[in-house]
Amino acid sequence: MDVGAKLKEWLSFFTEPTAKRLMLIANIGGVGYYWVVSLLVFYVNLFVIIPSILSENLGWMRFQWWFFVVAYFNMMLNYLICLSKKSRYTSTEGIVTEEASSKGWGYCVPCQQYSPPRTHHCSVCKHCILKRDQHCFFLGACIGHFNQRYFLVFLFYASISALHAAVCFFTYLNQYFATFLSLDFYCYFFPIATTKWVLGYTPSHLFGILALFYMCLMLGFGCIGFFTFHFQRALHCQTSYEFSHRVTTYSRGPQRNLQEIFGSYWWLAFLVPIPQKQTSDGIVWNKPKELKGY
Ligand SMILES: [Zn+2]
Ligand SMILES: [Zn+2]
Repeated sequence: MDVGAKLKEWLSFFTEPTAKRLMLIANIGGVGYYWVVSLLVFYVNLFVIIPSILSENLGWMRFQWWFFVVAYFNMMLNYLICLSKKSRYTSTEGIVTEEASSKGWGYCVPCQQYSPPRTHHCSVCKHCILKRDQHCFFLGACIGHFNQRYFLVFLFYASISALHAAVCFFTYLNQYFATFLSLDFYCYFFPIATTKWVLGYTPSHLFGILALFYMCLMLGFGCIGFFTFHFQRALHCQTSYEFSHRVTTYSRGPQRNLQEIFGSYWWLAFLVPIPQKQTSDGIVWNKPKELKGY
């Protein structure tokens, strides 16, 4: 590893223009937020909330405990694999201008190289990303050809984990904070809850659980929205960029589109994160009319 180059890269943060620096701060903040909230929710839900609200029904408590553990570990595992699978493109061979442009390749000015169709440059990652979809600030990385499947499964389990925790937190608050649909219900309104906590009327641990409840609720519904949108894009073989520019060139039917992202058994990716061979290498893209028998 070139330590000098790495150090230069880190120091370049202070010389970046403001917009780029803000993106880098958002990147660090997003990753920090994800880890703090997810680890906090994991601990509080498993070791404080579930044992407390389900103490009278041991069987049901074990079921809820393991349900959350399985969903949470699937989320974390897919998050980490998503980070480890880079979709970066670095040119290894010199491609002449005419040949490159005739194949639909484009020239990336920051990287000073020709890059394949569907590849876009990410100014945060500072790399060309194969079939780039978006830069995810919670991951601090780009979603592209090789990690899209892990990102989709991550969103799926993040929705389940966050909503499960939100329901458990609400059940706890209903018992110990304020009863649902009672005269005390106004306490749930966050500005009122914050004022009561500041004035010392609400214990800190209850206020903390209320804050976590709102976070999980927002993250849960947010992830459902993201998952629905991105799964739709996967079915139509479109990146977010192609969707906004109405590009439908690469779609080969829902079944084949999913195989191209997940491998032969797309549903298996939702059960275990086993790698499966994708039908495209991310560099060569066949259009439907060029495929035999299609
Ligand atoms: Zn580039
Ligand atoms: Zn990126």
